[in-house]
Order: sequence, then structure tokens, then C-alpha cells
Amino acid sequence: MTVSLARVRTRLTDTNQEVMAFRFEVIKKDNLSQARLGRIETDHGSFTTPAFLPVGTQGSIKSLTPEELVEIGVEAILGNTYHLYLRPGHETIERLGGLHTFIHWERPILTDSGGFQIFSLGSLRKISEEGVTFQSHLDGSSHFLSPEKVMEIQRSLGSDIAMVLDECVPYPSPYEYVKVSMERTSRWAKRSLEVRRETDPALFAIVQGGVHRDLREKSVHKLVEMGFHGYAIGGLSVGEPKSMMSDVLKWTTPLLPENKPRYLMGVGTPEDILNAVMLGIDFFDCVLPTRNARNGTLFTSSGKISIKQAQYAEDGKPVDETCTCYTCRHYSRAYLRHLYLSKEILSSRLNTIHNLFYYINLLVKIKGAIQEGRLLDFYKSHTSPHGLEIEFPAHFQSD
Ligand SMILES: [Zn+2]
Repeated sequence: MTVSLARVRTRLTDTNQEVMAFRFEVIKKDNLSQARLGRIETDHGSFTTPAFLPVGTQGSIKSLTPEELVEIGVEAILGNTYHLYLRPGHETIERLGGLHTFIHWERPILTDSGGFQIFSLGSLRKISEEGVTFQSHLDGSSHFLSPEKVMEIQRSLGSDIAMVLDECVPYPSPYEYVKVSMERTSRWAKRSLEVRRETDPALFAIVQGGVHRDLREKSVHKLVEMGFHGYAIGGLSVGEPKSMMSDVLKWTTPLLPENKPRYLMGVGTPEDILNAVMLGIDFFDCVLPTRNARNGTLFTSSGKISIKQAQYAEDGKPVDETCTCYTCRHYSRAYLRHLYLSKEILSSRLNTIHNLFYYINLLVKIKGAIQEGRLLDFYKSHTSPHGLEIEFPAHFQSD
């Protein structure tokens, strides 16, 4: 890797092991919204926020090398605990030097808890107070994960940010069930914190409570009282109407401590991200840019395009004439269409480079706009060509 990052560990524990370094700093707050410009420091370098973390499900951002990610401007990535636990196994990864070494990525890594994947298994899992029993989607083998076990797995992986085990409730679910589940997720968060060692990754709790204001507020209060390195908002982008995501963020982010980072899990479209930044979110992860790329759907400054369409057969223009990514500098829409229809491996690679660059560049523009105090203008200019509401929402007005 071309970029070397200084380690920032400074403190030692009683047993002379290095203490995990984690620091979040708010650099600038926007006057007209809840947006913040910030920086997160970890043992593997820092990343600026608002940030977008591409998803490396199996320990790779599908089709790209770490060097290509660095060239795109990716500063941190996400790894999936569930998948890495099942294959190749966290103990194997630990013996091979930890996840950073194993996948040749020197920058920050966040690992999720596996909760989302386990609860997506439906009838293949069974939940109790102690934890969750599930059958592997790979070979049907039976596994049991508790909050403590999930901490142990993420410790072995050696990620920089770990997530507590939570239950992600589908939408819609009965109020009573969402309540019981949210309270159990809070108890699981407490158990995770109790077994956390000083040398472990920074630990983030996950706010749940579905689309119910009182449950979201209770969840925030319980978790903030326990004291985590950061807070994630979970259980969104699971099929609820778009406006509900804004509502949940409006209810929760003002209750979260200002000096801790806020992470919106599994979100979303470029418009979702811009909206959530303005509601006080600091970072995101989502499979959308990478998965869409492999399906031939490309993000551009004037909306999404499907590269397989016949209208691009003899189109010599780049995907987006305003984009400076490697793909747009060298290849035409016609060639990308040809690669896609021919099922060439290069199709996935070039499309992923463009889509990830689009997302990372969007965040660069958002950060610049916050820095220069023109986020509102950016919001209006970004949303108008996409046919979204251009009237400035009331919740963004300053007091
Ligand atoms: Zn491009």
C-alpha cells in the first residue's frame, strides 16, 4: 500500500499491552442543520466525517484491491462478522495476524456484530435472553452467538470499531414485540460493555425501537447512560417509508451526546445520506454502490443510469462527464455496456470504481460544503436534478 499511517497508540495497560486508541473530534458544526464535520482517530489512522464505508462482506470490497480503494479515496471499510466467523473463521484470521493483515488493508475497519445477517435468516434462527441460535446459510451447521461471543470474535478479528450484538426488527412489527426486543438489545449492550477489555476495539451501541418515538427515546437513554465510544442507529432501511427514516433521526440524534460519533447502519442512497448528514449523522455503510455496480446501475450527477440500455450502444461519452474517476477518464458508456452484456469481469471492476468514487466524492463535496458554510445551497443543488423535494424542509431551518 502506498500510504503509510502513523500508529496513534500511546497508553499501556497494567500488563503492558497497548490500549486501543479511539478519539472523535467535531471540527465544525453547520449553522443551518445538525451536520458536523469531524475526525475519528483509530490505531490504524484516522478518517474524516461525514464518511461512507464500503462493505467488504467477505473481507473484500468485491472486485477491487486495497490500492484501488485508496486511489478512490476510501478511508475506512466495513467487514461482516457473521460471514468471517463462518468462513474462514475468526480464529484462523487471528492466527494469520488479524483482519487488517489478512486482507491487506492498513486503514480503519469497522466490524458489524452479525446481528443483521442472523436476524435475516428468519426461521433458521431462535432467539433467547442468552443469545441467538442459528443455522449457517453455508452448510446448515448449528451455531450459538451471545453478546459476549460476538465481542470475542471482533477481538480476534482486531477491528478498530466493534458493534454490540443487537436484534434488527423487521418492518412492520407489533409495538409490543419491538419494545421487548429493544429492551433485550439494551441488556445485550450492557453485557457487551461488561466484557470489553481496554485492548479491544472501540465499542458502539445500536439504538433500536422501530418507528416508535417513545421506544427510540428509551433506547437512546439506556445506551447513553451506559457510555459507549459511539452510537449507531439501527433498524432503518428495512422497508419502512422514506419519511420515517427522517422522523427516527429527528427524534434520536438530538438526544445523543455531541462528542460521540453517530453511525447510520445500512443507509443508503446519495439522497438518504445527504438528508441524514443534515440530521446529524457522521458516517454510513451500504452495499448500494457496489451491488448496483455489478448489476450495471451507475450513479451520475444527473441521476442513476442502467448501462445495459440500448441507448448507450454507440455512446462515446463517459458515464458522467463531470466525474474524474479512473473509469470515466478512460472508458465510454458504449464500452461499459459491451463489457456488461458480455459478462466480462472487468465490467464489475470498472462499474464499482465509478460508483464508489461517486459516493466518496459526494462525501468530499458534503465535507467541503460544511467547511465553507454552504451545505444548504449544496443540498438544494444536489437534490433538484433528481426530482426530489427542493423546498427546504422545516426541520433544517435554524432556530
Ligand atoms: Zn466516474
